[in-house]
Amino acid sequence: MAALERVSERWFAGMLRPTVVYGRRGRPRGGNPVGIVLGHYEPDCSTIVLHPILADTRVPRWVLDWTLFHELLHMTHGGDHGAMFLAAEAEHPHTRRMERWAQQHLFRIYCEE
Ligand SMILES: [Zn+2]
Repeated sequence: MAALERVSERWFAGMLRPTVVYGRRGRPRGGNPVGIVLGHYEPDCSTIVLHPILADTRVPRWVLDWTLFHELLHMTHGGDHGAMFLAAEAEHPHTRRMERWAQQHLFRIYCEE
């Protein structure tokens, strides 16, 4: 996946190469301001599972990239959003923008699907 290579290269010196798959569309259940979980990392099989909405043409590429960045951080920091995790996440310039974008667009796109 080109996006994974781009993000791994930029933020992790290309060292992280998990499998990336799109999961099934699930019900909103928390994880971001509008309750749609965009991705999760499965350590047992080193796989990032992405929400299929990320393949929608109305979702900007930087949103996909940021989501991969977040999941790659779980690869290196474990499953919790602890202080170290959040500090690393805050280094990405799109972290705050992501929250605003999700509030403004994500649920609308989800409902229009
Ligand atoms: Zn997370």
